[in-house]
Amino acid sequence: MKNCPICKTGKIISTEDIITDLDGYFFVVKGTRCDKCGEEFIDEQEGQKMITIAKRMGLWGQQLKLHRKLSKSARGTVLRIPIDIEKELHLKGNEDVAISKVGRKIVIEIE
Ligand SMILES: [Zn+2]
Repeated sequence: MKNCPICKTGKIISTEDIITDLDGYFFVVKGTRCDKCGEEFIDEQEGQKMITIAKRMGLWGQQLKLHRKLSKSARGTVLRIPIDIEKELHLKGNEDVAISKVGRKIVIEIE
């Protein structure tokens, strides 16, 4: 067992429940944690795995935020879905969607 490089006195123990936040998505990864100060160290391999998963989910190296203006129609407020998202999700334009509000965010789920 080696000592913690942060507090110098704690013991480094292995753990499988490090929670890490990547762009609002939470990943549970393996690594080590100091039993004294609680500092967590993610295994390098695990970190790589997380990046691989993030890439597969399209969360990595991609601009997630697209800016669009809302427009008004006679029936209410209209949001046009950007063409690249439309392509990526293979939208035909007749899908049912569920719209929910999370704080100041609007989440659109394709059902
Ligand atoms: Zn420590």
